[in-house]
Amino acid sequence: MFRYDTSNTWYKGNTHIHTPASDGGKPVAEVAEMYAGVGYDFLFRTDHSVASDVTSDGARYPLLWMDGIELDGHDAQGDYYHVVGLGTFTGLTREETRAMGLTAAMQVVREQNGLLILAHPQWTGNSFEAALRWDFDGVEVYNYVCHWLNGKGDGGAYWNAMLGRPNTLTSRSRTLGFACDDAHLRPEHPGWNGGWIMINVPECSPPTLMDAIRAGNFYSSTGPDFYDIAYDGERVTFHTSPVQFARLVGPAHYGKRTGNFEGTLFTEAAFSIPPEWAYCYLEIEDAQGHRAWTNTLFEGV
Ligand SMILES: [Zn+2]
Ligand SMILES: [Zn+2]
Repeated sequence: MFRYDTSNTWYKGNTHIHTPASDGGKPVAEVAEMYAGVGYDFLFRTDHSVASDVTSDGARYPLLWMDGIELDGHDAQGDYYHVVGLGTFTGLTREETRAMGLTAAMQVVREQNGLLILAHPQWTGNSFEAALRWDFDGVEVYNYVCHWLNGKGDGGAYWNAMLGRPNTLTSRSRTLGFACDDAHLRPEHPGWNGGWIMINVPECSPPTLMDAIRAGNFYSSTGPDFYDIAYDGERVTFHTSPVQFARLVGPAHYGKRTGNFEGTLFTEAAFSIPPEWAYCYLEIEDAQGHRAWTNTLFEGV
């Protein structure tokens, strides 16, 4: 099934943001003002080891805050992870989360219909085997603060490893790709608005956004935009902000591409879909080297 319906409105958001509830440097009101000022519509509050409750303060903000958490810890095999949970959770206060450990906390997220995203695997130093172990719903294909810290913000190799795994439920893997800021907004971690997602839905409300994320009807970006993405049963056609390259990415070395090294930019491209590829997604790249990625274009059989 083709994943994209881009007939509605695009909303910009970030799935990984820290606030003073853990180690974020700016109050939630200031974070909201900053992000709303550059066009964001929603932010997930994902503080370390403590589930947010964005409605608890009764305040009004210029964008939509949504609930989440960032978990960290070791699994029984001794691998260390950071995992972002998207959703509203009970039973994950700081004390409860720390006491139960990573795998039990991930179970709490799953039981309450949350999404589990493997955070910044290259920065953490995860093996591909560890990335594949917990059937994560998604992985951070790009984490802006990790790119700042030591250049290890790119999770693309992990994403492709997760997409290429055998899947017993469907013939195609469902792993979603997320670009995010992981903003801390402290003097030593000042970066923000370097990685985000765009969701195309009729309204910017928590259930609508969560359903679209779950369905993979969003794309991730560090710069360029997709304006529409359509499939006619054979070819995927899409319009974008001015880009220099566009690629249809498949498993291992499979791929198609268009573009040039003369600097000529374009805003429309199309690729025919090879039916034998186990998965494919689109990547676009602008003249500054900033990239954007769709999720895999097809979900399920
Ligand atoms: Zn982290
Ligand atoms: Zn984080």
